[in-house]
Formats: sequence, structure tokens, C-alpha cells
Amino acid sequence: MTARTLDGQTLARTMQEEIRPEVAAFTAQHGRPPGLGIVLVGNDPASEVYVRNKLKAGADIGFRADLERLPASASLAETIALVERLNRSEFHDGILVQSPLPKAMGAGAEQRVFDAIAPGKDVDGLTPVNVGLLVQKRATLVACTPSGIIELLERSQVPIAGARAVVIGRSDIVGKPMALLLMHRHATVTICHSRTRDLPAVAAEADILVAAIGRAGFVTPAFVRPGAVVVDVGTTQVSDRAVVERLFAPDSKRREVFERRGSIVVGDVHPDVAAVAGALTPVPGGVGPLTIAMLLKNTLTAAQLRAGHVG
Ligand code: NAP
Repeated sequence: MTARTLDGQTLARTMQEEIRPEVAAFTAQHGRPPGLGIVLVGNDPASEVYVRNKLKAGADIGFRADLERLPASASLAETIALVERLNRSEFHDGILVQSPLPKAMGAGAEQRVFDAIAPGKDVDGLTPVNVGLLVQKRATLVACTPSGIIELLERSQVPIAGARAVVIGRSDIVGKPMALLLMHRHATVTICHSRTRDLPAVAAEADILVAAIGRAGFVTPAFVRPGAVVVDVGTTQVSDRAVVERLFAPDSKRREVFERRGSIVVGDVHPDVAAVAGALTPVPGGVGPLTIAMLLKNTLTAAQLRAGHVG
């Protein structure tokens, strides 16, 4: 068996086309486009790429998309002050603080900065208010990656109600909201993490397996029940040839990309899983583009709510 590919790239494009007329209607009615402010502190290379992609997607759809940069030496107080300025801004409906913040800002800095975002502009769904609303199944702004995964599962006709779902990873941004969204759709959900005993056996009970770990090729066929739907959230930049050679066949496309670029992005799911799973999201081209599509959707929703359209 070769797993069906769950194509996040195509769905993301479809979702963007779906919201484009709503963006135009908002702009016509209010004399300004929906606005997204992205805060980037320092110059982490991966963050630079993510932020560039988000800004480009925002501009393409007709948003005002502003990058608000601070140097790596910025203090916690300066970062919070920037978030508060965006909270007050008439032109910004959504605020995204790119993670990670520089280590020098200290432990707990990220949480304090996220806490400063006005819940109505919290398009990453990370503030305590929005997380609480999600727990109670009445959220409007939900973390982008897990809500993008739900869109993909639902639009791919993957049955969720009654399914056994296993989520590996318990982060605030992916694992926990993923588990809640699946539970709200009536899956029976197990959350696994680094202390889970006999992880492959637990994972192999899943009809829907979501891997959000950040370890290249960690989920092998031993983790996967034949026919299961496997969602690969992981994105690890790998430049170690030995790891690439262990994961990908010499004549594969991924090896070709590695030879050309010297590094490749690798998911948490081992390529051999494609022979066992019923459906699988690719990396790249799976969950990543959906995360951006959901960011656009959340920003439009935040703009509409601020303007009193819905809610
Ligand atoms: P994170 O905050 O580092 O959390 C990783 C989770 O994986 C933790 O809960 C950790 O368990 C668990 N874990 C680590 N090693 C494990 C092991 N050996 N066995 C079982 N569990 C283990 O990461 P994250 O922010 O959730 O992101 C996860 C991955 O998804 C990363 O590769 C990230 O780059 C990627 N990501 C991709 C997108 C996208 O749009 N494609 C978006 C967000 C994240 P403990 O809690 O016990 O430490």
C-alpha cells in the first residue's frame, strides 16, 4: 500500500482564494484592508524565512502586512511595549510574535510577551483568554497549525467522530490545541510526550496520528496502524549527510534536493511510513502552507470582529 497524499499546499491555495473576496469586501466597506503586524526580535534564520512567507501571503491576499523588527539585544520591556503599540493601532487587526524570542530575554519571556497581546488580535490563539475559550469550545481565534490540520482532515473526508486519535507532542502552540480540536470533534484522544511509556504501541492504536515533535524521521512504521491517517507537523532542518542517507533512498527527490542545497527540511515521520499509512501529509507541502492559510483566515476574522461584523 502507498499512502494517499494529503496535499496541504493545494488546500492552502483554495482557502486563500475562498477568503480573497471577503478581504476585498472588508477593504471596500472600511476604507482600509485587514492589517497584520508581525513582531520579529533578532535574526534567527528560520524565523526570517517563516516571517517572509507570512508577509508575502498577507500582501498577496490584499492585507496590510507590517514587519515590526527589534534587534536581538531588545529587552522584554521594549518587546512588550511594541506589542502594546500594536494593540492600540487602528490599522492592525492581528498580531503575531514570531517564536522563538532570543534566549537572552530570559526564561518565561515568551509567555509574558504573548500574554500582552490583546485577545481580540491574538491570531495565533496563544493568550490565556483564547486558550480558555478553546477549552470551552467557543473560541474564534485558534492556533493556526492545529486548525489548519482540522481543515485538511475534514476536507479530505477523514472521519474524526469516534476515531482514536493520538497526538505526539504537548506544546501550547500545536499539541495541546490539536488534542482539544480533535476531542471537540468527538475523537477519543491520547496525548503522548517524552515521558510516555511504550510510545510506538500507544501510537499504533491511532486511526489518526499527529506527530508534532521536532525529531527527523522519529515516527517509523512500528508507530503506525496499517491504514491510519498520519499528519506530520515536524519541520527539522537537516544538514547531516548521515541522517539524510539513513532516511532517503539514493535516487529519491529529497536526496537530490539535499545534494543541491546542502540541507533539507525533514518531518517527524519516517519515509517508510508511506508504505503502511492510509494517508499522509508530506513535508514540505503538508501542514506548513495550511498554517499560513489559517493565519490569513484568523486575521480576517479578527478584523471582522473588531469592525462588528460577526460574533
Ligand atoms: P516543542 O514545543 O518543542 O514540543 C515538542 C513536543 O514533542 C514536546 O511535547 C516533547 O515532549 C515532545 N517530544 C520531544 N521528544 C520526544 C520524544 N523522544 N518522544 C516523545 N515526545 C517527544 O515543539 P512544537 O512547537 O510543538 O513543534 C513541533 C514540531 O513541529 C517542530 O519541528 C516545529 O518546527 C514544527 N512546527 C511546524 C509548524 C508548521 O507550520 N509546519 C508549525 C509549528 C511547529 P515533552 O513535553 O515531554 O518535552
